[in-house]
Amino acid sequence: MGDAVHAGTSIEVIPRSAWGARSSTGNCVSHTISSISVHHTATHSTDNTKSPKRLLSYQRYHQDNKGWADLAYHLFIDLEGNVYAGRDIGCVGDTATNYDPSGHLLIVLEGNFEKQPVSTKALDRLVELVTWGAKTYSVDSDKIRAHRDLAATACPGASLYAKLQDGTLDARVRSFDTGEEPTFRMLSQVEGQARIQRIVGSQQK
Ligand SMILES: [Zn+2]
Repeated sequence: MGDAVHAGTSIEVIPRSAWGARSSTGNCVSHTISSISVHHTATHSTDNTKSPKRLLSYQRYHQDNKGWADLAYHLFIDLEGNVYAGRDIGCVGDTATNYDPSGHLLIVLEGNFEKQPVSTKALDRLVELVTWGAKTYSVDSDKIRAHRDLAATACPGASLYAKLQDGTLDARVRSFDTGEEPTFRMLSQVEGQARIQRIVGSQQK
């Protein structure tokens, strides 16, 4: 029971090459991140082994049906808290609602949080990503918001919105000491593919 050195958390991110993302169609509008917004996919999802497939279909939908350059969001968190790289963070995201996403780091969690609770693992990862993002891009806490704070939408759903409204997210982000914030680690393609294999095969275990 010695005093463990707190090594800090490394957020492992599955690269696009590992989940089979299509290329962006181009048309990158560059921006500098100054705020963070939290979203849900609004699809009631329970089987995490299908998450990589759903992510592919969201990207296809955004490119083919919405005419956007790429997945609307920069970071995608599945039901089990795995993190996937979405749109290039240096490019403005997209939205079907009435707000300007310029300057926003868009983080989306899988699920419909109007209808289902947000999982502990997914919420943990959101806390880590927001903490990392706020530190990396010098985002003030009043610029960490839910989509519904910005536009007329239910997004990110009641159960997730409650975590922003009641101060849970803010308190947890603030609980990290300076210098101990989570770091962002993009997995290699090989590591990412192994992670995907674990995710899609995890039902058999
Ligand atoms: Zn949203």
